[in-house]
Amino acid sequence: MSQLVEIDHLCKHYPLGKRLFHRSDVVRAVEDVTLRISAGQNLGLVGESGCGKSTLGRAVLRLTEPTSGQIRLDGVDVTALTGRELVAFRRHAQMIFQDPYGSLNPRMTVRQTLTEPLRIHGLCKDHVAEQQRIVELVGQVGLPEASLDRYPHEFSGGQRQRIVIARALAVDPKLVVADEPVSALDVSIQAQIVNLLRDVQEKKGLTYLFISHDLKVVQHLCDQVAVMYLGRIVEQAATKTLFDRPLHPYTQALIAAIPRPPDAPSLADVSLSGTMTHYRPRALLLGGDPPSLLSPPTGCAFHPRCRRYEEAGRPAVCRSERPPLVQISVASAASAPSLVACHLQTHGQNLGQPG
Ligand code: SF4
Repeated sequence: MSQLVEIDHLCKHYPLGKRLFHRSDVVRAVEDVTLRISAGQNLGLVGESGCGKSTLGRAVLRLTEPTSGQIRLDGVDVTALTGRELVAFRRHAQMIFQDPYGSLNPRMTVRQTLTEPLRIHGLCKDHVAEQQRIVELVGQVGLPEASLDRYPHEFSGGQRQRIVIARALAVDPKLVVADEPVSALDVSIQAQIVNLLRDVQEKKGLTYLFISHDLKVVQHLCDQVAVMYLGRIVEQAATKTLFDRPLHPYTQALIAAIPRPPDAPSLADVSLSGTMTHYRPRALLLGGDPPSLLSPPTGCAFHPRCRRYEEAGRPAVCRSERPPLVQISVASAASAPSLVACHLQTHGQNLGQPG
């Protein structure tokens, strides 16, 4: 399967103002991220709030300028585009934002909202074709034709998100970056929008970069999952592999935090010795808040919160060396390799002497 999105060593840093006699501080929101998304696949990007996943999504679409690194969409170097080339690129990559209330112009009807991208990119040869396309678009997202001349305030949150999806589809994009597209909606509506996104993807062969902190939604929708912590990818795997056998202690904690019915069976886990054990959800839950991006911990940035670090006797290597993201062979039917950044997986129990 061909790679539609290729991200190499992407960084996005935000320099803060320089203080007298101090070096200027830098917030490293995204740090050395390398990702691939195959055409027609969905990649879920998960992690706690503030881990840099939205910044990464915006950087992929050049809504924020990357500090360094390269992004290619279908072989085209997106980071090098300027002017008209950048406008033309927007036809191929669209974004769905979290807040359907804020992402629609309250002074524009649905018809005007959907007409705008068609005109910017010159996609319809005349007015008749334009109107036919608009009617087709509202039909695709399950809205009646009568909604075309209404304003955003006349719709519910779920209906507004349908309009946002229709606007993204208007230009026939190859890639859609969906940033928490259902988290602002009622729980009862979330499933409808997730199913709509999946239907549209199957019919149009779209590729999604799906950003969410809701792992159940990601599990339902995505083929691959990448886990971010403090601006870096710490684990990436096929969805089933990641949920069946999460390798990184942070991923294990995120999955253990998914609300589960009291009588649900335990999930399989991989112990230090490589044998299968079972989750002890309470013991796995994360404590404390993520550290500041301004002064991330040395070595593995997760070590102040890592249960395995404590269990393994607080090995010095976790505090002093940042674990690289390396390929791990996991016995699974999934063809995609698993990647993980944890000394435990690369060194086993030989993590060095406790310090
Ligand atoms: Fe925990 Fe060490 Fe692995 Fe980091 S490298 S996740 S501190 S065991």
